[in-house]
Amino acid sequence: MKIKKPIIIGNWKLNGNKATIYNVLHSLIHFLKEKIIDNTIVIIPPSIYLDYTHQLIHNTKIFLGGQNIDINLQGAFTGDISLVMLKDVGVHYVLLGHSERRTYHQENNLLIAKKFKLVKDLCCIPILCIGENKEEKDHDQTKCILSKQLNIILDICGENAFDNAIIAYEPVWSIGTGNIPNPNYIQKIHEYIKQYIQIKTQKKDKILNISIIYGGSVNQHNIQNILQEKDVDGVLVGGGCLKYHTFSQIIQLASSIKKYNFN
Ligand code: PEP
Repeated sequence: MKIKKPIIIGNWKLNGNKATIYNVLHSLIHFLKEKIIDNTIVIIPPSIYLDYTHQLIHNTKIFLGGQNIDINLQGAFTGDISLVMLKDVGVHYVLLGHSERRTYHQENNLLIAKKFKLVKDLCCIPILCIGENKEEKDHDQTKCILSKQLNIILDICGENAFDNAIIAYEPVWSIGTGNIPNPNYIQKIHEYIKQYIQIKTQKKDKILNISIIYGGSVNQHNIQNILQEKDVDGVLVGGGCLKYHTFSQIIQLASSIKKYNFN
């Protein structure tokens, strides 16, 4: 499956019910039908609604993503959900390492790397969230945190780890706060991530294919400034994807950015 930029991903987190999902998707599908939009759009609902969402978006331009997977594929693991099950209900993308999973479920870099490998081995596309928290930023540790989060993936999955994968740079202090970094800052960090992987893997040509998106308080007012930056390949949206009007505006504005016409 080819990832087409600008990548727009909506993470519904622990929100919604059948009625709201139906309403948002019904309008979104209608909106997309009318537009010549050819980029990757992914919706990530709570797992209980994956099957329902899949039925609604089947044969449309929207792809389905999962918010999490267990490290096991099957067996006596009460309450967990496996990647095989996600695939069975139409999932192609899996979010990994989101700061809410790291914070509330103590997911560490090693566990996330193992899940990342599983997702790649079973031919789905991982969306790896990385980013520093406020304290780490204030102590100038951003690059060190990011390189640790990337290193373990490269160690476990090898130098091709990020081919056909998405990295979401999400400064934790920006998620759900409305505090958005300056676009120059986002560009610098994305450039750093690219160069870091390039140096670690010594595969210059491959690195040009890497997809790095930004996440944290993205809305219809700031999306264009963010996407104008050279190394920003898309966005991961939380709060801004829950309402049809906001999310459709984000998609519309993203598709109007000229630089992506050359991808
Ligand atoms: C997120 O949780 O990944 C996110 C980007 O949330 P928000 O857009 O609400 O900041």
